[in-house]
Amino acid sequence: MSKSLFSLPEPLLIPVRGEEAGFPIGRIFCVGRNYAAHAAEMGVEVDREAPFYFTKSAANAVLSGGSAPYPQGTENFHYEMELALAIGKPVFKATPDEARAAIYGYGCALDMTRRDLQIRERKKQRPWDLGKDLEQGSVFAPLTKAEDWGPVSDQRIWLTLDGETKQDASLAELIWSVEEIICHLSGFYHLRPGDLILTGTPAGVGPALPGQTMLGEIDGLDPVSLKLSAADQK
Ligand code: MN
Repeated sequence: MSKSLFSLPEPLLIPVRGEEAGFPIGRIFCVGRNYAAHAAEMGVEVDREAPFYFTKSAANAVLSGGSAPYPQGTENFHYEMELALAIGKPVFKATPDEARAAIYGYGCALDMTRRDLQIRERKKQRPWDLGKDLEQGSVFAPLTKAEDWGPVSDQRIWLTLDGETKQDASLAELIWSVEEIICHLSGFYHLRPGDLILTGTPAGVGPALPGQTMLGEIDGLDPVSLKLSAADQK
């Protein structure tokens, strides 16, 4: 079949520092609990058995610098500041060297979360999608190519809400390194150009309200920002 009944949106393009072309968003994988202090604030213990993941739809992603309405169905809408990895090469069952080579670039990202729904569903042993895969629920800053930044070491990662520092940590606190994440995840998926991996959030997550602005930064990368506006009206 070659004719489509209707057209779908083109993939969102994330700007890349020093490039005219943008990075098209393919799939978005997110690592859960990758900083011990955040796991503790969520009331769970971290194990080093294996990383775990959830996904967010590419169609729900937005670019940094805009505003989004306060989402429906939540009374506890949280920011999570994260380092995003952008995959630029196909990789499957990666070795550490192949994992490093597959990284096209890095960026700041927000993993916005309906925390009340995430926790409610988790307690019922149901999937987290209502809590995590919300419209305008992931926010991407312009990417920096791997050769222009990195390797990941002890760069500072932090987030301010209306100018007040809420998250402040170091990438040295990542439980699973970026190479380990790609090696492990590529044992389950044929990772490919366009895939993005959010590497987890440090401690200090909390609620954001309509009218408030989040600004997330990592040393040497372009910051990510999002302003919340009033909830959508029907
Ligand atoms: Mn997260």
